[in-house]
Amino acid sequence: MAKKWYPVIDILTCQECGSCVAKCTHGVYDKSKAPVPMVVNPDNCIDHCHGCGNLCPVGAIAYVGDDTGWIAPALQNQPQAKEECCCCGSTSKGKKEIKIEYLYLDLKTCDRCVGTDAVLDEVVEALRPALELAGYQLSYRKQEVYTVEIAASYRFLSSPTILVNGQDIFDTITESDCGCCGDIAGVQVDCRVFEHDGKTYEVPTGEMLADAILKAIYHPNVCTCGEYQLPENLKRFFAGKEKKAASSCCCGTSNCC
Ligand code: SF4
Ligand code: SF4
Repeated sequence: MAKKWYPVIDILTCQECGSCVAKCTHGVYDKSKAPVPMVVNPDNCIDHCHGCGNLCPVGAIAYVGDDTGWIAPALQNQPQAKEECCCCGSTSKGKKEIKIEYLYLDLKTCDRCVGTDAVLDEVVEALRPALELAGYQLSYRKQEVYTVEIAASYRFLSSPTILVNGQDIFDTITESDCGCCGDIAGVQVDCRVFEHDGKTYEVPTGEMLADAILKAIYHPNVCTCGEYQLPENLKRFFAGKEKKAASSCCCGTSNCC
């Protein structure tokens, strides 16, 4: 069974104070990334613990599987605390904030996710000085999409995805068979490819990413949020991964006994 209780951070609200990372003693967060809260070991989270969420000064933490009616202390008595649009993350505060998020299925074996991650790291660090000079405050974080719940919370449609203030930097999604993610799930899985000038890339170039990020900043799309549905392809991936994990032997393999 996949873990059904762990924190999910709303990056558009998070102020990166680091309180949650400091609070947790169970290794759920990657301490080396503090103060940025990166959930790396959701399985370590203690059922029904709200320890980090109770400390968050802005109510940016929710819990997958939480049916307790818990309300983050920072949001109590503030029914309209959030000023975000439904999914695009545009705010009514007019702040020059840019939040870049990298969403992926796997950073251990998937060539596309790993390759895109490396290119994106370079592009973000190259763009950062210019954007800060232009008066923007830039934050950058990564999120592994472990489960259908995390996928739903990001309205995740394809791996990998890069968001700028909640908006996919690419307008269209094209996919092809991904052997790496297929191996993880034990089923056929399609992952994203990137098209540019009539060519298709499994890993986008720096030029493609820089151009798409800047367009998303200077010409954001109008929000077109509709009802979200997890694509069949991703349903297959998560179901296959869960089945594989359930059939694994105690030694950590699926075929030793
Ligand atoms: S809920 Fe508790 S165990 Fe889970 S990440 Fe937060 S502090 Fe750690
Ligand atoms: S406590 Fe809240 S604001 Fe601070 S880093 Fe964690 S999620 Fe972000």
